[in-house]
Amino acid sequence: MIKVRNLVKSFGDVQVLNNISLEIKKSEVVVLIGASGSGKSTLLRCLNFLEMNSGGEIEINGQVIDSKKTDLNKVREHMGMVFQHFNLFPHMTVLENVIEAPVHVKKKSKQEATQKAMKLLKKVGLTDKADHYPDQLSGGQKQRVAIARALAMDPDVMLFDEPTSALDPELVGEVLQTMKDLVKEGMTMIVVTHEMGFAREVADRVIMLADGHMIEEGHPTIFFTQPQHERTRRFLQQVL
Ligand code: ADP
Ligand code: MG
Repeated sequence: MIKVRNLVKSFGDVQVLNNISLEIKKSEVVVLIGASGSGKSTLLRCLNFLEMNSGGEIEINGQVIDSKKTDLNKVREHMGMVFQHFNLFPHMTVLENVIEAPVHVKKKSKQEATQKAMKLLKKVGLTDKADHYPDQLSGGQKQRVAIARALAMDPDVMLFDEPTSALDPELVGEVLQTMKDLVKEGMTMIVVTHEMGFAREVADRVIMLADGHMIEEGHPTIFFTQPQHERTRRFLQQVL
């Protein structure tokens, strides 16, 4: 579904991603780990073209994306993104947040979008909050709304950037559970997280980034028990 070849990203003179190559198949769940500043967010942002790569190429569903020739908004419609800080529209209700893109980007009727939104809110356990505003919700509830909002566009792949890092510890579980439900449905997911329990349970592959290099990748059973790289070992000691 996604092929990345020799991806390079620089900000000015500083190269923050170095020759990243990876392939993500349909229904695969990939967990991306690495120290702060290692390039995890930048990699996700390059994958959905919030940042333009400085070198290499990205192929999505068989099409190499050329930012000059491809309608990037169309490409992004097929990718759901969930951020650490939820990024909900504060002046809109939960329901309005979820129907916003389907109505304004996909030009769905309000009725159709609402029907679908209510199904998604049921899926994330928030039917009763449809008419609430974001500031009336807990962090865990906000993040589940953000997930429902991303799903409302029928994405082929979901990108999560530290979705539980801003949550109080007791709220982390409900968001991880929602994500595990998505895994069960076969959603393709790329998840930046420090939740190693989640990675062990659902990841098909764990990738370690260090200073913009992919230094190690593997199935969680091997990755966590026999990390090859010294930097992976040190990192795992800190987060496990
Ligand atoms: P991570 O998500 O792993 O913590 P980031 O991808 O956010 O890391 O950042 C990787 C590196 O790129 C950091 O050194 C960061 O300072 C730098 N960086 C990220 N975004 C920008 C930007 N817009 N301009 C300049 N430097 C940036
Ligand atoms: Mg980050």
